Amino acid sequence: MNIDSITNGVVIDHITAGRAMELYDLLNLDRMDCQVAIIMNALSRKTGKKDIIKIDADMDIDLDVIGFVDPGVTVNIIKDEKLVEKKKLEPPVKLVNVIKCKNPRCITSTEQELAHVFVLSESEPNVYRCLYCETKAETQKHISRK
Ligand SMILES: [Zn+2]
Repeated sequence: MNIDSITNGVVIDHITAGRAMELYDLLNLDRMDCQVAIIMNALSRKTGKKDIIKIDADMDIDLDVIGFVDPGVTVNIIKDEKLVEKKKLEPPVKLVNVIKCKNPRCITSTEQELAHVFVLSESEPNVYRCLYCETKAETQKHISRK
């Protein structure tokens, strides 16, 4: 793949430097069949350094996951080599099955079929709490689906 040009696909731009692999994991890009290019520490006029992920496939990307991990990113949708949509992300109000509650007494640890839901706190900036037990989500750097 020519990493500068994608015919149909998604370019996740302005990722905080060092966070591309985290997004790669959370978006399950390792399970994709298409070509994925990860550019780390690219030069950025805005922030000095940034990471970029280029996905050479017309796929539905989970914007909530990206907005949660790194709200400053831009998602560019490419069709026929043209930029058709540029999405600026914000932290999602609700996260469903992205992270798991770590509280052993939480109802989600006994009721396996229950969705793991976290809600953005209204009073604390960038803090997510479990919908059921209000346990605070782990810091964004250490989240994992595994
Ligand atoms: Zn919980």
